[in-house]
Amino acid sequence: MRTTQLYAPTLRETPAEAEVISHQLMLRAGMIRKAAGGVYTYLPLAWRVLKKIEEIVREEMDNAGGQELAMPIMQPAELWHETGRWDVYGDEMFRLKDRHNRDFCLGPTHEEMITTLVRSDVRSYRQLPLMLYQIQNKYRDEIRPRFGLMRGREFIMKDLYSFDKDEEGLDISYKKMYDAYTNIFSRCGLNFRAVEADGGAIGGSNTHEFMVIAESGEAAIVYCEACDYAANVEKAELKPILAGKEAELPLEIVDTPNTKTIEAVSQYLGVDIKKNIKAVAFQNEKDEVILAFVRGDHEVNDVKLQNAVGAIVLRMASEEAILAVGGVPGFMSPIGIKGATIVVDATVMEMYNAVAGANQVDKHYKNINPKRDFKDVLVTDIRLIQVGDPCPHCGKPLKTARGIEAGQVFKLGTKYSKALKAMYLDENGREKPMVMGCYGVGVSRTMAAAIEQNFDEHGIIWPAAIAPYTVVIVPINTKDAEQMEIAEKLYEELKAAKIEVLLDDRKERAGVKFKDADLIGYPLRITVGPKAVNEGTVEIKVRRTGEAFDYTQDKYLANVQ
Ligand code: ATP
Ligand code: MG
Ligand code: MG
Ligand code: MG
Repeated sequence: MRTTQLYAPTLRETPAEAEVISHQLMLRAGMIRKAAGGVYTYLPLAWRVLKKIEEIVREEMDNAGGQELAMPIMQPAELWHETGRWDVYGDEMFRLKDRHNRDFCLGPTHEEMITTLVRSDVRSYRQLPLMLYQIQNKYRDEIRPRFGLMRGREFIMKDLYSFDKDEEGLDISYKKMYDAYTNIFSRCGLNFRAVEADGGAIGGSNTHEFMVIAESGEAAIVYCEACDYAANVEKAELKPILAGKEAELPLEIVDTPNTKTIEAVSQYLGVDIKKNIKAVAFQNEKDEVILAFVRGDHEVNDVKLQNAVGAIVLRMASEEAILAVGGVPGFMSPIGIKGATIVVDATVMEMYNAVAGANQVDKHYKNINPKRDFKDVLVTDIRLIQVGDPCPHCGKPLKTARGIEAGQVFKLGTKYSKALKAMYLDENGREKPMVMGCYGVGVSRTMAAAIEQNFDEHGIIWPAAIAPYTVVIVPINTKDAEQMEIAEKLYEELKAAKIEVLLDDRKERAGVKFKDADLIGYPLRITVGPKAVNEGTVEIKVRRTGEAFDYTQDKYLANVQ
């Protein structure tokens, strides 16, 4: 491909609406454009990356015994009535009616569709196990579609469903998928961790999330380096505090944090908590007090506060939780809190002292009722997890990280087969429900997650396996016939060697081309300048390390491969 023909309209400025780096960089690199909130067009460069991720996913699914099919995106409501999910799915489901007033939805997931397919065709144990999958658009009317492709309303997912005779069969299918997912994210060149996750209504240890490790991740995870325990903090078997309790408790002010407090904590942690941290917390030596800072948009007595930093003091009195809310001078923003996942990254006492020293007295709101006095309620669960807490498996100190959920594997059991009567006859002629699993990979989210993990101030740094092109050739002066001849020859040779190569043949200054190459993030850049003409050497620059090497023309091919 030649850059003059490539549809990749790059932007110099960072679009204001983009909060996270993957969104900013994909817009700037001319990879995506917004059609509506959470709905995007994938331009050619993004589409190449998506196809590569899909191909890796497809190969791993096929290797594990999966068979690809394609189910309708538009699904009749009747299927969803059979499982009761038409009513429970809520506003996240996109619903539509046909001209006869019949209800349909745009598939947010396909358990109903696949189970009704299989129930009508599979009758005998001889036809099991079965693993069927598809890669297609999913539709979820997310409350807050945001962060570009990370949380879209239309997004690409691979979803596989397994059907087995019994639990042992399911264990085998689950293991196959778990291993396939490990291969997928390894092959994509990502740093990830599979963590135990919360199974929701089904419960039990029957699900893992595959988390791409990144600062911007929405999930907090804990992991142990000594053994391989790793869990989403929502699930972690650690000290839960106030878990599930509502904030409608009698209020009593315990302490008053203020701006100085925040500064002290920021200084202590060595991070700007106003910018980086949703909540921090500590306990005093009597296990009594937790203090949290929460950043977000709040509405208090009809006053809107944006990006307010508030502080909350919670006191534990035996089983009773007492919630107090302190306003931060300058913001005066009591913040409603139902709960928060709180990760402490400091020794409890030291943090407590840092904060206590900065407090003022008598500057707090008394008897505030979060639901009456302010509308915004944050998260739902409070747990205090400290770095260095003992691992529940081996007792060694735990570490924490943030992660992006790029995939999830789930043992469904017989929930859907019973509801939808997907039965088979076993070896003894007895009718039994099939035992199911479901396994999703967010293909478009994986692309975004790859960027969240691999970028620098100049742009994206693609892992080679999913880069839109592996190499970009940049002739320094397109008016120089000799340089162009070398660049063209190189381009042809690389193409012949089946290397995905782009020739930047635009009549732009070299600086502009270098900037675009860095922004889009091709793993290798080959510069063809006067040295190529005079000495027969080209410069090969590695995007990730910034290292540059001079190569004679006959050596370059060997080295690029
Ligand atoms: P989340 O917790 O982020 O809302 P989920 O647990 O609801 O995701 P699943 O139902 O497990 O998502 O779907 C499988 C995969 O699809 C997820 O692991 C994720 O990679 C991807 N995914 C889910 N929702 C979205 C979305 N709104 N935009 C992009 N990808 C998504
Ligand atoms: Mg979701
Ligand atoms: Mg999830
Ligand atoms: Mg999930």
